[in-house]
Amino acid sequence: KKYVYLFSEGNGSMRELLGGKGANLAEMTSLGMPVPHGFTVTTEACTRYYEDGKTIAPEIEAEIFEFVSKLEALAGKKLGDKENPLLVSVRSGARASMPGMMDTILNLGLNDEVVEGIAKLTQNPRFAYDTYRRFIQMFADVVAEVPKEYFERAIDLMKQKKGVKQDTELDADDMKQLVEQFKALYKGHIGRDFPTEPKVQLMESVKAVFRSWDNPRAIYYRRQNGIPSSWGTAVTVQMMVFGNMGNDCGTGVAFTRNPATGEKKFFGEFLVNAQGEDVVAGIRTPQSIDELKQLMPEVYDQFLEIATRLERHYKDMQDMEFTIERGKLFMLQTRNGKRTAQAAMKIACDLVDEGLITEEQAVLLVDPSQLDAFLHDQFNPAELKRAKILATALPASPGAACGQVVFDAETAKEWVAEGKKVILVRLETSPEDIEGMHISEGILTVRGGMTSHAAVVARGMGICCISSCGDITIREGEHCFEVDGLIVNEGDYISLDGSTGRVYLGKISTVGAGLSGDYSRLMGWADKFRKLQVRANAETPADAAQAYKFGAEGIGLVRTEHMFFDEQKIKAVREMILAKTQTQRQKAVDKMHVMQREDFIKVFEAMQGQPVTIRLIDPPLHEFLPKEGENLEALAAELETTPAALEKAIVELHEVNPMMGHRGCRLAVSYPEIAKMQTEAIIEAAITVTEAHKDWRFVPEIMVPLITDLKELKYIKGIIVAAAEAVLKAHDSDLKYMIGTMVETPRAALLADEIATEADFYSFGTNDLTQMTFGLSRDDAASYLGSYYDKKIFDFDPFATLDLRGVGQLIERATELGRSVKPNLKLGICGEHGGDPASVEFCHKVGLNYVSCSPYRVPIARLAAAQAAI
Ligand code: ADP
Ligand code: MG
Ligand code: MG
Repeated sequence: KKYVYLFSEGNGSMRELLGGKGANLAEMTSLGMPVPHGFTVTTEACTRYYEDGKTIAPEIEAEIFEFVSKLEALAGKKLGDKENPLLVSVRSGARASMPGMMDTILNLGLNDEVVEGIAKLTQNPRFAYDTYRRFIQMFADVVAEVPKEYFERAIDLMKQKKGVKQDTELDADDMKQLVEQFKALYKGHIGRDFPTEPKVQLMESVKAVFRSWDNPRAIYYRRQNGIPSSWGTAVTVQMMVFGNMGNDCGTGVAFTRNPATGEKKFFGEFLVNAQGEDVVAGIRTPQSIDELKQLMPEVYDQFLEIATRLERHYKDMQDMEFTIERGKLFMLQTRNGKRTAQAAMKIACDLVDEGLITEEQAVLLVDPSQLDAFLHDQFNPAELKRAKILATALPASPGAACGQVVFDAETAKEWVAEGKKVILVRLETSPEDIEGMHISEGILTVRGGMTSHAAVVARGMGICCISSCGDITIREGEHCFEVDGLIVNEGDYISLDGSTGRVYLGKISTVGAGLSGDYSRLMGWADKFRKLQVRANAETPADAAQAYKFGAEGIGLVRTEHMFFDEQKIKAVREMILAKTQTQRQKAVDKMHVMQREDFIKVFEAMQGQPVTIRLIDPPLHEFLPKEGENLEALAAELETTPAALEKAIVELHEVNPMMGHRGCRLAVSYPEIAKMQTEAIIEAAITVTEAHKDWRFVPEIMVPLITDLKELKYIKGIIVAAAEAVLKAHDSDLKYMIGTMVETPRAALLADEIATEADFYSFGTNDLTQMTFGLSRDDAASYLGSYYDKKIFDFDPFATLDLRGVGQLIERATELGRSVKPNLKLGICGEHGGDPASVEFCHKVGLNYVSCSPYRVPIARLAAAQAAI
């Protein structure tokens, strides 16, 4: 098996094997672009590394060395040679881009002798020693895990001693001294000398990159982005080119279009006399790419031409990394750029208008999960006008965020766990902050440009971010920042407008997003291509109206018990649950009847005649009982009993296992009057609505939850039919209605053919189905699933992303069984999974009729359904 490929042996379609970076470097090489020579060790070698107990097999090591020789021949230089040494970078690259999550080592191949060779060859000892100290620093950080801070402190001390501000002001001797200090630091931490043999350095680095696939931030990023841990990373070994040789050198990052707005304008940043990491790490604030036009016009023109070619070639906006060595341009990376949802939609529409892509391709260009943030927040314009602007900086990722200031990711996590909303304020973010960033409302950094870690990561997450805010001074250790003489303390509220880069003092409320322009064009295309229908889970008129606005084609789940989540209404439910006698229960049920009819009318109206599935009440009783310590006087009076007796009744109702308890249709079996009442309310409401709107062909769908057996369904269906027919007769109405059931127990799925004889439709309740298939409590599992991710037993939360192997199998089986009896059986899914793009794709494949999800996820599901169909 071949584990290593030269750039010239690969191409852009080999992402799985070569990782995105390796594949695109190969593709650019084959396009004749200026790419420094190199080779890529495949992701399969990474998988082997883990299989072989975190070692690199001898035959793979031998193959790597064979390719080192090939690279030396191409480069005309040799690794470790004193006269004409080859230096390389060792770069990580997974199939899916995970910016900054894994490790890269630059300038590998240096030691005390090689550095002299470089100094002589380039006539530039400062450059040689700067490069050497960078290498020691990166190698120590990545391979040996010596914290970067030690090295940075040494540099700061050196700058202080010399009375200078910038790294670039340190001279060759200073760098030489730093090298000695760095080596001593390394030895102090590791207890061994810094390795001098380049081949040892190389193999150690390759291993470190493989290892970095499994570092905590990479694991977290994968979980957030649905990337399986089995993929592994490739390792690219590439000849170094140097942006730090002097003022005719530089390095930068650029996008073919603006990644924040989508505007068709070349966009980017660079640093003169610097090495790549300097730009992405946000250590110095870079210059705009437009300034390169002035500084090095020829390089700029060449770069622009390459960028344009790359965009046309990949038919998507490109994010490129480049380095200029003594006036010569080198391309170091290209990929489809990460972008905000707004930018994604604008770029997709523009590319169609430019004739570069089809409508289908445009639909595929937008990541559905990104729509979430887009659909949510904008500041209320009136409040915004009145608010005090603290500072203005780079609008790195749009959106509107408001929360309490925190200064580190740990505090962010603690506060969010307490239910607070936070804005993370940092000097600059580093990948270790990723978890804290993800849960923050917004991110504000003092340093770093649009391409800094904070900016890139925030845009990917759809989290508002403002960067490079030099107007504020964070007071280390005092938990506050200062701006214009004003002190903002930890816990104070600020608001960020990620679209304008403005930081405001205090709270500003937000309003919904504008759903027009590019958005509606793109969603129009999506609707044209998709086969799955999209419905919403909604029970309040407001939610239903929101869902309708977002394009829901009906409601797939009205959770009737949620209609009582109201201080007044919940009393009626409690009365019903706690009633001792049939008369008491009927009294409570009659109260509920009136409320239900009113609520159903409003929800049906909001959906404008589209289908609505109403689920009979399914209250796990513990969610409705009075909580401990609550005053029982009023409830007792209503039930004509004493608080003490009531307390006793509550204790008796207590269940050890409420989620498997007296809920769902079991309640209807014990107390048929509840199902009867709900049916009457549904049918009455439907008659009212259809009489008011003669042109609506509204058919209510009555859904029985938690069915496990045909006889159970038959019994309840009898009650429903009798109640419905009586109402219809009384109103002399010929309204149609349907009766179906949820498939949310494994038994119902396995007996789906039998149960289908009595059901007009099935809706897969994947929350409960997941809970019951795994035997994993939805309410408690989060607290211990963490260990499952850490130990790589689970890649994802099965309650967020459908478990295709187990739960999915039950759905497929039930679909086949059900349709074998009733070919027209209407099938849908109504769990949280209904809005998860991967799960939507599965539903499309299995052939369900619709997915139903929360209103804000309706557009996500529409887009995901279209992508599944293309
Ligand atoms: P990441 O995936 O974190 O972006 P990269 O492997 O792309 O990591 O490396 C980061 C930066 O290091 C690049 O943007 C580039 O500037 C620099 N770099 C990598 N390889 C080389 C090389 N062969 N010559 C010069 N600079 C390099
Ligand atoms: Mg990169
Ligand atoms: Mg359920």
